Amino acid sequence: MKIVIASNNKEKIREFREILMPLNFEVISKKEANANFEVEETGKTFKENAEIKATAIFKKVNMPTLADDSGLEVFALNNKPGIYSARYSEEDGKKATDEKNNIKLLKEMENVKNRKARFVCALCFINSKGKIFNILETVEGKIATSLKGENGFGYDPLFIYNNKSFAQIPANLKNKISHRGKAIAKFLANIKDWV
Ligand code: IMP
Repeated sequence: MKIVIASNNKEKIREFREILMPLNFEVISKKEANANFEVEETGKTFKENAEIKATAIFKKVNMPTLADDSGLEVFALNNKPGIYSARYSEEDGKKATDEKNNIKLLKEMENVKNRKARFVCALCFINSKGKIFNILETVEGKIATSLKGENGFGYDPLFIYNNKSFAQIPANLKNKISHRGKAIAKFLANIKDWV
């Protein structure tokens, strides 16, 4: 059975392909499914955005579709950057980068005592009949006072879990404890029933 991933992010497609191939699912990108259009993320929550993306692609392809949305919520910043995590440091039309996002977060967290934060991952799966299934998983940690580690991406060098940043631990360990890892595990546990 084919599953369309509502993304063209090569890393995401590769990750889902590796996970789903052994279960006899053929993973294809939205481009390969002839649904290569941008979906505007107009939702107010991760769940809404994942569902908006999955629904838009499903309507075009009429095949089982999986979408995800994720980001970082910092308690002392009223859960910012939240759904704007990727675009946090965007300014005057200049694109945000991981580096600029991390510098901005460090600045906002200067002298802030409560450093609690969590990563959130929403997955939305729509089966061939159009039935919608949602998953939401989180991992809690703390925001570091300086960048630590070289692995990973995004806010990993600033996210401390058990005294180490996500950028200081290997990918296979991060995948076991991360918001995305947990969400994918839940998806795998249910996929045979949901299709
Ligand atoms: P998206 O779900 O691919 O749109 O990612 C949203 C943004 O959240 C990313 O660009 C990162 O800034 C951040 N993010 C989501 N998951 C992670 C993670 O596992 N590590 C670090 N940053 C993350």
